[in-house]
Amino acid sequence: MASEIVDVLIVGAGLSGIGAARHLQLHCPDRSYAIVEARERSGGTWDLFRYPGVRSDSDMYTLGYRFRPWRSAKSIADGPSILQYIRDTARDYGIEPQIRYQHRVVRAAWSSAEALWTVTLERGAARGPVALRCRFLYLCSGYYRYEAGYTPDFPGLADFRGRFIHPQHWDPTTEVNGRRIVVIGSGATAVTLVPELAKRAAHVTMLQRSPTYVVSLPDEDAFANALRALLPARAAYAFVRWKNVLLGLGFYKLCRRFPEAVKKLLRAGVRRRLGKGYDVDRHFSPSYRPWDQRLCMVPNGDLFEAIRSGRASVCTDHIERFTAHGIHLRSGHTLDADIVVSATGLQLAVLGDVRFAVDGRDVDLAKTMSYKGMMCSDLPNLAFAIGYTNASWTLKCDLSSEYVCRLLNHMRRHGYTHCTPRRRDPAVTEEPLIDFSSGYVRRAIDAFPKQGSRKPWKLYQNYVLDLLTLRHGRLDDGVIEFAAAATQA
Ligand SMILES: Cc1cc2nc3c(=O)[nH]c(=O)nc-3n(C[C@H](O)[C@H](O)[C@H](O)COP(=O)(O)OP(=O)(O)OC[C@H]3O[C@@H](n4cnc5c(N)ncnc54)[C@H](O)[C@@H]3O)c2cc1C
Repeated sequence: MASEIVDVLIVGAGLSGIGAARHLQLHCPDRSYAIVEARERSGGTWDLFRYPGVRSDSDMYTLGYRFRPWRSAKSIADGPSILQYIRDTARDYGIEPQIRYQHRVVRAAWSSAEALWTVTLERGAARGPVALRCRFLYLCSGYYRYEAGYTPDFPGLADFRGRFIHPQHWDPTTEVNGRRIVVIGSGATAVTLVPELAKRAAHVTMLQRSPTYVVSLPDEDAFANALRALLPARAAYAFVRWKNVLLGLGFYKLCRRFPEAVKKLLRAGVRRRLGKGYDVDRHFSPSYRPWDQRLCMVPNGDLFEAIRSGRASVCTDHIERFTAHGIHLRSGHTLDADIVVSATGLQLAVLGDVRFAVDGRDVDLAKTMSYKGMMCSDLPNLAFAIGYTNASWTLKCDLSSEYVCRLLNHMRRHGYTHCTPRRRDPAVTEEPLIDFSSGYVRRAIDAFPKQGSRKPWKLYQNYVLDLLTLRHGRLDDGVIEFAAAATQA
């Protein structure tokens, strides 16, 4: 039996895990915590992804933590700056010593009699098993597998004599100067890579099956930079954060209410950048409505600049098969390539791929329902940090961490040892957790917990509503059940 017990065990030392630790320090300073991290370094996504030009695709005033102003002039930041921001946070608040690296959680078993989770971990390169116990388990483990990205089964790939790379495992020794490069995909990674590679390659082709909405935004927020000169950093940050939250929400609502008008607006934006002769309808006019999939942002129109200059082009077609020297397309055309980058997405992971059991019974997460987008029905003392699909990740994760702290303090005040969301209302029907038509979501969504058709099981993807519920709403809402174990270790 494992002897060590911590009050809160945070799984993952990425953006949300380190943020969660700071919230605990601020709001539950007398609770012990530890962070367990599968990898040998902190930073999660921002350490893993190292392809050329890697950057945020939302602004740092909302991707940054509520408690720590983003001070750089760039609102759309490069990957290394974001990694530095996360690591500086861990260092400045003394979080770093609490991180146990190379500790991968594989199983967590809850005992109601003891009001404890017993967590099984694989430690070090040898993956030797260790156990830890905790009173509350907080999964800040992101949403995708680190081991491998998603690569479709391309016919003839074995025949290709050039280099084939997935951006999740970019090899920094890859020589791109003067090479002919094909980037497969049309999502955030593809639109980041294409202009960056085009600076040095002979030519870059973005090969997409279907188009994505692409919007150009300045990489600096002039208003934010001016305000920072006038106000103290914290006040300026709070102001700009709210401005961006409200602008983002307003634009999202506009997209949902008037999709045709927004479609026209977005198309006009691309046409303005690429000129009248460009086939915008073919390459930049998706068939779905704006925000049925993530909108892609390009800073200062860099993608459009690369296309206009002739250093990059877009090809909307289907891959028939790979050949020794490139890709043969369904249209009959061939794209010659020295390097093919498969920006074809991620493999989603459900809550860190941890296997759960409650009082000796294995839990099928697909049969649970997510409560307030951060807990699961019938899983006691467990929360997860999953961000928004239509706004910056950290907005939701900050709120989830605040809510976890409120729950912990509520339980302590009232002598409870655990709390469990219970699904008792038969009128609540099941819906997929994420309402997105993207391939990577469709491939995995069945394995995820469901959301419900109404509060508190429904996800509104709306920061203002979540703020009211999670920061100010009643904790004892009749859905979450509080209990006290007869004995607690
Ligand atoms: C290239 C890229 C760009 C992005 N840009 C943006 C953006 O601009 N705006 C935005 O809002 N979102 C963006 N996202 C989403 C992004 O992942 C989040 O913003 C954020 O970085 C996620 O932080 P996280 O800490 O929750 O998860 P991660 O960064 O994924 O970190 C999770 C950590 O948990 C660890 N872990 C996982 N499972 C276990 C386990 N079982 N045991 C122990 N440790 C475990 C992992 O090793 C990892 O270190 C981007 C994603 C990618 C891939």
